Amino acid sequence: MKSKMQETLIYEYLYGKNIRPKNPLNELGYQIEFKEQQEIRKIYLEITDRCNLNCSICYRKSWEDMDYDRDMTDETLEKVYRDLDEIEGIQKIVIGGIGEPFYHPKITEIIKRLEKYPLHITTNGTLLTEEIIEALTGTVQEITVSIDGVGEAFCDIRGISLDGIVKGIRALQKKSMNRIPRILK
Ligand code: SF4
Repeated sequence: MKSKMQETLIYEYLYGKNIRPKNPLNELGYQIEFKEQQEIRKIYLEITDRCNLNCSICYRKSWEDMDYDRDMTDETLEKVYRDLDEIEGIQKIVIGGIGEPFYHPKITEIIKRLEKYPLHITTNGTLLTEEIIEALTGTVQEITVSIDGVGEAFCDIRGISLDGIVKGIRALQKKSMNRIPRILK
């Protein structure tokens, strides 16, 4: 079953309760139409806004007076798992967004709980430890590693050298024998 349930989930996650937001575009003369039969095909999960880096370009720096050291709690994760079970036809779950997903203390458990879905993870690529690589292999279909440049340009932005990230990607490729995960560079 989908439709109303799925629509409710969208609004719950976006706005905290089941209401349609006031749409500022309407005031500009545009009209947004909400389909009665919403279908969720792709889910974006932002499991943490913490990160092990402090990049010069990080959008978190623009959050003045905001606390950005929170992980998604066990309670919220359990709700996410339950709600996902209510949705049919999910084509992709993307774990990423603000913060570094591999910095979440329960990332390996989260991957395990979500392994029945097509998984995609976006990462800064600095935390590809043996344990993480083990968890990724055979479960995650795609990984996006954010690389802003090479050499000094990368160092200037990220504050670290690219070498460690390349090493992690090599280890991941070796473990998965270049099959899965597919790495988008
Ligand atoms: S890796 Fe991403 S989240 Fe972390 S500090 Fe850099 S830009 Fe921000």
